Amino acid sequence: MNVDEQSSVLTFLNSKIENIPKFHSAILPKLCGGDRVVDLLFYKPLSYVDRSKSLPDAQVGEFTTFVAKVYEHQRPTSRGRPYRVIVESESQYLFIVFFNYSVKYLYKLFPVGTDIVISGKLEKFAEHWQITHPDYMLSDINLFKEIACIEPVYQLCRGITNKSIRNIISSNLKDLPDLPEWIDETLIKQKKWLNWKESIIRLHRPSSLAEAEVCRERLAYDELFAYQLALKLARENHVKKEGKEFIILSKYKEQVLNELPFQLTNDQIRAIDEISERQKSRYRMVSLLQGDVGSGKTVVALFAMLNVVENNMQAALMAPTTILAEQHYNWIEEALSCTDIKVALLTGKTARKERKIIMNELASGILNIVIGTHALFQANVTFKNLGLAVIDEQQRFGVIQRNRLVGKGENTDILFVTATPIPRTLQQAMYGDVECSILREKPKSRLPIKTVIMNVKKVSDIIQRLKDAINRGEKAYWICPYIEENEELNIAAAEMRFQELQKTFFDRVGIIHGKLTQEQKDQVMFSFKRNEFSLLVATTVIEVGIDVPDATIMIIENAEQFGLSQLHQLRGRVGRGNKPSFCVLLYDNLSKSSYSKLKIMCESQDGFYIAEKDMMLRGSGDILGTKQSGCMEFKFADLYEDRELLNLAYNSAKGTIANFELLLDIFEYRSRLHFSKFQ
Ligand code: ADP
Ligand code: MG
Repeated sequence: MNVDEQSSVLTFLNSKIENIPKFHSAILPKLCGGDRVVDLLFYKPLSYVDRSKSLPDAQVGEFTTFVAKVYEHQRPTSRGRPYRVIVESESQYLFIVFFNYSVKYLYKLFPVGTDIVISGKLEKFAEHWQITHPDYMLSDINLFKEIACIEPVYQLCRGITNKSIRNIISSNLKDLPDLPEWIDETLIKQKKWLNWKESIIRLHRPSSLAEAEVCRERLAYDELFAYQLALKLARENHVKKEGKEFIILSKYKEQVLNELPFQLTNDQIRAIDEISERQKSRYRMVSLLQGDVGSGKTVVALFAMLNVVENNMQAALMAPTTILAEQHYNWIEEALSCTDIKVALLTGKTARKERKIIMNELASGILNIVIGTHALFQANVTFKNLGLAVIDEQQRFGVIQRNRLVGKGENTDILFVTATPIPRTLQQAMYGDVECSILREKPKSRLPIKTVIMNVKKVSDIIQRLKDAINRGEKAYWICPYIEENEELNIAAAEMRFQELQKTFFDRVGIIHGKLTQEQKDQVMFSFKRNEFSLLVATTVIEVGIDVPDATIMIIENAEQFGLSQLHQLRGRVGRGNKPSFCVLLYDNLSKSSYSKLKIMCESQDGFYIAEKDMMLRGSGDILGTKQSGCMEFKFADLYEDRELLNLAYNSAKGTIANFELLLDIFEYRSRLHFSKFQ
């Protein structure tokens, strides 16, 4: 396939979806994430219904499709009883049951003595076989073949039916071009994969469930392979660039260590060494610092910044919120008070006059370290020589925002800091060969957080115990249930709980949720930190990373609804001081599986272990926080289920990239990655 042919493929895939009925033109692109043919074709069925079983082969509860003769119509004998059509198929009699249907309509549609096609779920009711409200009931028996098949089921929303999605997909599959094969022949044979075109077609119209899975698997491999290639490309383009070569004598290290009120953990020491080594290398550094909540990542970042200052360059630390930036600034400024290093804080709250001074000093190089928020990458902020950008809670920043900061220097080194533990099995897949330092160990002074599971019916006991704790001067968080992706409902639930708790705690209780502005949220957090109230009711949007060391109790309502990683993140808000802390997981409705999930929380405090378990329970989707970052969404692959494919893809991607340009473009990895992790 030559270049022209390749680009015509791309043009086809990127063209607008055809034959969308007007009333679906707004909904469909939202569902499948775009209005191009490729968005539609990559809209993977959620599941499949096997309608291929004949009536004699089907068991109760299974779907079946068959041709039958209408034998008799039975009107309801009294109100509220169903309308029944008795049909006969190969001398088996069956009731087709309808509730609230127009009798006239059914009678006209299915006259006695005619043949019809029926498809639906087989039930048994008082010794009778029956189907209630069949999915299909058609008088044209030529349609039998079309219906008796494996039917894909797509994620739907109000206003669009599965059938319309299938029709639109069908009509867009018509002109699908074939593509050159990029997968190794032996692998294709071994896995019994079809080519790309066939795989797409049969994903949407499989002849068996096994075939659907084979097709998904091949497409998942394409996706993972493209991702691995892109990682490699990004690395070659950006990381392998020659940067600065630092000479590190650790001029400030001892001095600052003496200022710190604690001993570094072994993991911190190791991470600091690893990062220093990378800074010394003549290549540009792009590093990831990963650690559980409270593992002390900021200290490590600080030492990386000191290395930069020692080499007469500037360092910036960007945090996602004002309160976090201030928190970092406060202790860093104190820790550096024994040195000649100049640090400043720049946030949206910084007064104009001061801002002007800071900006001048950044441009002239008087300031060595700046800590701040989004304010840092505003157009009018310039650095004399930005050597390192530390991006704290990296998943909270948009791609463009991160780039803006990094773009303020030349070949600036980057240190991403993230509190989302990524299971080891995924490490390589997500970050390729990006060097990563991990803080697994927590400071010795940390006490384990005692975690218990309780029925929400006992809420009054909890309130009583909470009252005692608050009287002793402790502080608590109360996380309210997460009700779908609807912050309005979440807030309503939180408001209700807030009012309820006010009856006991009066003005000692506050509330925070997603509809508050950032400023309002900061305000609430400050008051909580300053002890203006003791109990904070929150929706799940509660700020991550906030350090309120004297908070000791975390109560999570409807804990069974949350994923393990999220529970762990929430729990990490407490247990940061030297007092024993507690986490109460309240449940409303506890199935066996959610019980074992919550049990894991009681047994472990290790974020990496919990992330691994979470992935086993839920697949990889939500764990990585990819929803926020938007650059790691896989359509076909599940990083956990498909970990074998992932390894294969990783190994295959070691070769040359040149042959795979088209693949990269189809999955848009080139553009997505260029502007995300590595720029
Ligand atoms: P996170 O990894 O969650 O970002 P931070 O860097 O905010 O954690 O550190 C959390 C708290 O732990 C801070 O108050 C910090 O001063 C403290 N801390 C960091 N390292 C240590 C240590 N080695 N021993 C004791 N406390 C530490
Ligand atoms: Mg942090």
